[in-house]
Amino acid sequence: MSGAGRQEGFDTILVASYDLPMTTSTTAPQIEDYLERLCNLLRAQARTVGAEYGLLPVQLEALRYLSICNRYSDTPLAVADYLGQTKGSVSQTIKTLEAKDMLTKTRDQADRRVVHLAITDRGHEVLAVVLPRAFLREAVEVLGNSAQDRLRDGLDALLRSVQQANGLRTFGPCQTCRYHRRNAGGLQCELTGEQLNDDDRTRICREHEFAQG
Ligand code: SF4
Repeated sequence: MSGAGRQEGFDTILVASYDLPMTTSTTAPQIEDYLERLCNLLRAQARTVGAEYGLLPVQLEALRYLSICNRYSDTPLAVADYLGQTKGSVSQTIKTLEAKDMLTKTRDQADRRVVHLAITDRGHEVLAVVLPRAFLREAVEVLGNSAQDRLRDGLDALLRSVQQANGLRTFGPCQTCRYHRRNAGGLQCELTGEQLNDDDRTRICREHEFAQG
């Protein structure tokens, strides 16, 4: 499956940002500051919990991604796209996770050039301990349902805006994709022509595209 029209990396975001018009809004810098501080806290937490298993934050993120993606998206290239990393650095991440018995590689039956990655029992055990990030979950719970909904919708809109402005893949859940169909035979992906199962509905996909309008 191809991703024509999309940018394949995050380096272009920096280029695009130089073209932004000057703004007098004070809200945008505040949002930027909040996001940066939260990201710093998340990275610090990932460093701490990862260190217990000899893992770097990016290695934990790769494991986490593979635990929520679908079968079209469990390749080294998809991991690189999702994490905004080069293929070389993802290759190192995969080697480390394999050496720690947290990941296995298998060749695609139809196309032997394609490699699929799967989390081992050991990898799932580690993820079960380090995720969910309890400190963040608890803080979000404190906000209450209404504030949580507003925050989710705002973050969703912000993420989509960044992705659209930079031509990045959406990596959204299958059930929100323009190719997701329910027909007499059940669920189907119109892009691949393959049947989908219930578990596929909520998994994220490298080929996901939101319906227009
Ligand atoms: S329907 Fe969309 S998200 Fe689901 S498998 Fe097909 S391309 Fe991926």
